[in-house]
Amino acid sequence: MRLMVRSLLSFGLAAAYQPALRAPCTSAAASSTVGAVLRRGGMRMMAVEAPSAEAAAPAAPAVPIKLPSNEDSDTLLKIRHTSAHVMAMAVQRLFGDTKVTIGPWIEKGFYYDFDRPEQFAEKDLRRIKKEMDKIIKMKLPLLREEIDKEEAERRIKEINEPYKLEILESIVARDPDAAITIYHIGDRWWDLCAGPHVEHTGMLPPDAIALESIAGAYWRGDETRPMLQRIYGTAWETKAQLEEHGRLVAEAKRRDHRLIGKALDLFSIQQEAGGGLVFWHPKGARVRKLIEDYWNKEHIKAGYEILYTPHMASLDLWKTSGHFDFYKDGMFDQMEVEGASYQLKPMNCPFHVLIYKDQMRSYRELPLRWAELGTVYRYERSGTLQGLFRVRGFTQDDAHIFCLPEQLSDEITDVLDLFETVLSRFGFSEYEVMLSTRPEKSVGSDEIWEKATDALKTALGNKQWSYSVDEGGGAFYGPKIDIKIKDAIGRMWQCSTVQCDFNLPDRFGLEYVAASGEREQPIMVHRAIFGSIERFFGVLTESTAGDFPFWLAPVQGRLLPVSDTFRPYCEEVAKAAKAAGLRIEVDPGGRSVGKQIKLANQAKVPVYAVIGEKEIEGRSLSLMARKDGGLVDLGTLPFEEAIDIMARASSEYVSAVDELLVGGHGDGGAPIDV
Ligand SMILES: [Zn+2]
Ligand SMILES: [Zn+2]
Repeated sequence: MRLMVRSLLSFGLAAAYQPALRAPCTSAAASSTVGAVLRRGGMRMMAVEAPSAEAAAPAAPAVPIKLPSNEDSDTLLKIRHTSAHVMAMAVQRLFGDTKVTIGPWIEKGFYYDFDRPEQFAEKDLRRIKKEMDKIIKMKLPLLREEIDKEEAERRIKEINEPYKLEILESIVARDPDAAITIYHIGDRWWDLCAGPHVEHTGMLPPDAIALESIAGAYWRGDETRPMLQRIYGTAWETKAQLEEHGRLVAEAKRRDHRLIGKALDLFSIQQEAGGGLVFWHPKGARVRKLIEDYWNKEHIKAGYEILYTPHMASLDLWKTSGHFDFYKDGMFDQMEVEGASYQLKPMNCPFHVLIYKDQMRSYRELPLRWAELGTVYRYERSGTLQGLFRVRGFTQDDAHIFCLPEQLSDEITDVLDLFETVLSRFGFSEYEVMLSTRPEKSVGSDEIWEKATDALKTALGNKQWSYSVDEGGGAFYGPKIDIKIKDAIGRMWQCSTVQCDFNLPDRFGLEYVAASGEREQPIMVHRAIFGSIERFFGVLTESTAGDFPFWLAPVQGRLLPVSDTFRPYCEEVAKAAKAAGLRIEVDPGGRSVGKQIKLANQAKVPVYAVIGEKEIEGRSLSLMARKDGGLVDLGTLPFEEAIDIMARASSEYVSAVDELLVGGHGDGGAPIDV
């Protein structure tokens, strides 16, 4: 066999993880070339049974279905809103002791919160849906009626709905003259509501509506108020849309980072230590370290300096920065030290400002680009915590740029370049970009806002990125660009941000000596690529479903000895692999090869090799690689060579080793140019 090593800095990851690419890239052509060479070289794709620990991926529809959103379709919004009422009506017809509260439409459907002495069971959902179908069949009209508040109060008291009374009171408190609108479903049921709805219940598509789950929710989100039962439903315009939604929900469940994190032993959040605090286990920590090393390297290449700052500081600092006044609800309580108050840091920015201020700066020094993987602590209510997505302690990949006004557009362009370089390295090449401009309440002059906003637009123009504008959606301290990334199943995640700041330089009196000798105020830019390492790791885990790119995989390879006789050779290979910087382990043994293969697959180890008589004689490895739910046979090669190739795959950030191996073996051929 002949082996060649492709140089694939440009596209390895993107090709493996993004079905459609927005970034300039020739991956489609390149992949087919590699595929052709692979076939010539005699490599085989083998279907393997889906490992039992992971559910099989649901099949995608032959013709992709684009799911509409509430913003796309008025009809959909009306269907969802009406479904909520029809569900509440169905519940009260079946369970007479239930009190209704509120039931809005939401992103994929609707919910309604009920107060009922007994718990709803999963099987009740089927009964409720059947009852809804009956109401739909009756084609009952939805009729709007406007009444005054006294009449509304009288009618609500008549049907004894205490929560409705409270809603009425809050409507009246907001606007004492507001007309109260109610919607009737025929003459059988009514609810306080502002609409809109479909004209009659027969317009609801029964086979596009499903009841999904039951959850607890406090009345008005207030822990001191009664715990209600929330029933979630999903509603669409067609049955095909509902089925596609179901497929995506199953996909998302299969990819849940909390489950994968547990199954692969990556991280934990421990009740004993408190909510929202992340423990990185050895395998998760390996991945994190690799992400951070890569991040450091790219930043140094892009002209940044790396900083370290403390985890807490005197409360006075947070008063100067304004965080104590404007952000107090998101901060932990202070602690007293020798009579002074100290604060765990919710942000890194004031610390970088202090380093700037530590000496007089000249225009000749600017721009200064300072980056820090800074761990911050923010108070989040326990009810809102969610895996790695919402935590109380997390590490921002933060950076601040201090520059001259005329340097701003170049600096922002470089920031956007760096965003793209880093994000696409992890397989994220499709973005949704938003520019947010000056809000009504803001600090800074008209001139500086205009200049900075123009600089952001120029940078976006330089990148040739299409973007939308959120007029007035900027922070009070400056305009910003936010970037959402698209994951492997099409979900968008808020990720990178770059923001100008005219506030902190002013509050801290930042200056530089201009060419004229005058003291001027620098522009400060905040930016983060991942946002938070924890959250990004969660997104990456879900996007890859735990099949991390080869260079990031916590365990890159596993050696599976047919029996203990072959263990010494395995240890020798593993030792050489470790010396080459690879993360390769030997199965502890005591089980059949079949079982070892199964476990290697469950652990999502990208490459494994069974070691028997033949391998020892040839001092070789027969490599198998995970690929698209199956395995690729990479063939047999001398073990030093196999280690060499895998080490290169690691250092060149290759996503899958089979992309490195093409053709036969022996002539040490030149890399294939892609
Ligand atoms: Zn309504
Ligand atoms: Zn900042």
